[in-house]
Amino acid sequence: MSAMLEVASVSKNFGGVIANRDVSIRIEQGEIVGLIGPNGSGKTTLFNSIIGYHPVDAGSITFEGREITRLRVPRIARLGLIRTFQQTRIFGKMTCMQNMAVSVPNRQEGLAASFSRFPKALIDRAEELLEFVGLHEKRHLRAGDLSFGQQKLLEFAMALMNEPRMLLLDEPTAGINPTLINGLIDRLQRANQQLGITLLIIEHNMRVIMNLAERIYCLAHGQLLAEGEPSAIQNDQRVIDAYLGAS
Ligand code: ADP
Ligand code: MG
Repeated sequence: MSAMLEVASVSKNFGGVIANRDVSIRIEQGEIVGLIGPNGSGKTTLFNSIIGYHPVDAGSITFEGREITRLRVPRIARLGLIRTFQQTRIFGKMTCMQNMAVSVPNRQEGLAASFSRFPKALIDRAEELLEFVGLHEKRHLRAGDLSFGQQKLLEFAMALMNEPRMLLLDEPTAGINPTLINGLIDRLQRANQQLGITLLIIEHNMRVIMNLAERIYCLAHGQLLAEGEPSAIQNDQRVIDAYLGAS
């Protein structure tokens, strides 16, 4: 059986800097998988290669049995493979609801278009998902007026608007206070269990990733260093030397 996502021997370099070298990972449908490693180890680059943000130099990527190696972001997004960013990408002057509405591909035309023109089904879905992340009461507030943690929750809800089958999250808890972190862990687990979304999560907070992930990959210097269950990864001497020992 092929995995839901299969990254096979992917390499990517930027003008001589080898960001990923011969990286292979497999993710089964329904899993929550962690991706860890020091800064500059190539985690974000791997995400960008998977979702079609830039072409790879070597290797292949397959999603649900379909080769996506040379497809670009919009095509891959339509297959249900979606990412979020390390930095939030919301429109600060628009309300939460407006951000939700414009986060769906094909509806981006005319950001200024009046919100009332969006179909009822889309608005209902946006309200449902804002409820899901705990922002329903704030739905008519400007996104820029939310706290940073709330903005990350909004961004998560925006990603869910695209009905992902697999979501790649780049440091979802970075900069969020501990209370909101627990809320986010809970939402991610519910997205996995109730909405059936497979998750691949880059995360520096070891408490978060140990709580969430069933399996963890560790990158160092662009290469895969280790793969295993959280407890095994935490005690892996190579991972401790390259990453955990330093943090
Ligand atoms: P991580 O997310 O693990 O911190 P990155 O994937 O962002 O690591 O970066 C891996 C390496 O690739 C770093 O040396 C980084 O400077 C380099 N890199 C990433 N993106 C680019 C780019 N667009 N242009 C040039 N170098 C890049
Ligand atoms: Mg990164």
